[in-house]
Amino acid sequence: MKKRLVILGGGESGVGAAVLGCVKGFDVFLSDFGSIGAEYAGTLQKYGVACEQGGHTEALILNADEVVKSPGIPDSAPVVKKLLAAGVPVISEIELAARYTDAKLVCVTGSNGKTTTTSLIYHIMKSAGLNVGLGGNIGRSFALQVATENFDYYALELSSFQLDGMYRFKADVAVLLNITPDHLDRYGYKLESYARSKFRIAQNMDKKGCFIYCADDELTMKYLAETKIQAQLLSFSQRQQTSQGACLNSNKFTTMYKNNSFEMLLDELSLKGKHNLYNSMAASIAGQVLKIKKEHIRNSLMSFESIEHRLEPVLRVGGILFINDSKATNINSTWYALESMTTPTVWIVGGVDKGNDYGELLELVRQKVKAIVCLGVDNRKIHEAFEDVVSEIVDTRSAEEAVKVAYKLSAKDDTVLLSPACASFDLFQNYEDRGEQFKRAIRYL
Ligand code: ADP
Repeated sequence: MKKRLVILGGGESGVGAAVLGCVKGFDVFLSDFGSIGAEYAGTLQKYGVACEQGGHTEALILNADEVVKSPGIPDSAPVVKKLLAAGVPVISEIELAARYTDAKLVCVTGSNGKTTTTSLIYHIMKSAGLNVGLGGNIGRSFALQVATENFDYYALELSSFQLDGMYRFKADVAVLLNITPDHLDRYGYKLESYARSKFRIAQNMDKKGCFIYCADDELTMKYLAETKIQAQLLSFSQRQQTSQGACLNSNKFTTMYKNNSFEMLLDELSLKGKHNLYNSMAASIAGQVLKIKKEHIRNSLMSFESIEHRLEPVLRVGGILFINDSKATNINSTWYALESMTTPTVWIVGGVDKGNDYGELLELVRQKVKAIVCLGVDNRKIHEAFEDVVSEIVDTRSAEEAVKVAYKLSAKDDTVLLSPACASFDLFQNYEDRGEQFKRAIRYL
């Protein structure tokens, strides 16, 4: 009899898992509590996948042999609780897909910088001519690609929610960028549980594998000391020297893997800012581990174009540079954005605050920010935090208004930076919508 594979959630990962399940001969059923988008519904129909939307019919779910759960659904959802109580294995789409490919898997996780670093690694691999797919949290799902493509390598972005549903998965190269508190609501407000989830990226790795981590990151170092990792350990640091991995030497960084070294001038890096230096160092180590020629690594680090909504330079208007960092939805990512500013900055900030401690930004704001434009419904915390260090703080309620006000408050050679440190859903659909409205408003100036 066919094994019954039930998929919870009809988004990118769920539909990919459904297609893969079909191709591999499972009896597949997909259930979405909300609605399934037209394009995904079309794909399900094309593959003849039985599905439902607008609710979960337990009789059709609890009889599963195995369940793939979308990373967006918490373990506390009633249907998941019932499945777990009944002993049905609940896994992530990544775990399922990895069973059906022999490709080498280069995986990236962390609290910030995953998309940037995964894309950078993919760019390096692709430039070197490798037959590589890009997936995980980015673009098309890993499962769909395993079902329909034949890649030799994958660069995969992995969130902690995906890692939570991974048990046998084995990365060949794993990168852990950093750990800062995020999503704690899903981890019983326990930082340790969130950190341990990140370290799942290294589980099952053997001595042939490489685990790349940031030696400057406090939480990573704390939990690394308590975690057994078989893989070769390679670190990157901007503060200390390292014999295997990457470190900073005044105007360049050096990467060393076994006896092979690689040097890169910081001025030549296309991605600017301290945080991106970390990302570039991590990606270079991955490149070296994969035995990619130095010239390909160097050229890729020089040619990589910034990704939309991540410190993305938009336009210069009247000598004022506008930068879109709408993806910065926490204090840590905004800290790095402000840190990388080199001219007086009008800072657009605000939205839905996930428990921000703005005090962490005070010193940078004092040094770099000449005016603040709040873009959110409730801006009280921002006023309270910065009223003593910035004389001009203005409230706005739309991207258009924020851009107009910021433009007025700035002068030639200044920068206007949208780096909200907050989620967007008080005024926008999501961070992409916020970034796009911001860019549109700039073009209308
Ligand atoms: P993720 O996929 O982990 O959310 P992104 O690459 O999309 O990360 O970047 C999210 C935000 O974090 C952006 O504002 C970006 O500028 C910032 N960022 C990128 N890399 C880092 C890093 N290594 N440390 C801190 N912030 C970063």
